[in-house]
Amino acid sequence: MRCPFCGNLETRVIDSRYTEDMKVIRRRRECDRCSRRFTTYERAELSTLVVKKDGRREEFKIEKIIEGIKKATQKRPISLKEIERIAEEVEQSIREKGVKEISSEEIGKEVMRHLKSLDAVAYIRFASVYMRFNNPEEFKRIIEEVEKN
Ligand SMILES: [Zn+2]
Repeated sequence: MRCPFCGNLETRVIDSRYTEDMKVIRRRRECDRCSRRFTTYERAELSTLVVKKDGRREEFKIEKIIEGIKKATQKRPISLKEIERIAEEVEQSIREKGVKEISSEEIGKEVMRHLKSLDAVAYIRFASVYMRFNNPEEFKRIIEEVEKN
């Protein structure tokens, strides 16, 4: 960690503590050369890999979830804020699982769980993409399922 005052690369950590929500580590550092102190913040990256249907793996990105929900909620009365909140909750639940890999299907199901209570049309649209409906029967089944609730 380069000292922001003199540019020296040798700095020592003199104190580390988590923020209240345990998501960020705050480190107090001291430069070995100029002895000035500064603070850095470390945030954990979600290093989960997403296993796609064809077996390819890619890094988990919350933007992809947001994109997927956006498509499903087009012209529906759902704000971007709500979309982002769902995506964050999905990310959070994946983080809590603490797994190295997760299937895109499992992520899709998690998103669907949220959409179901929010907007039936968006739910069905999302389901049709994620579950890869191949015939009208599958559509019918999910619409019936929504109507039951
Ligand atoms: Zn320095």
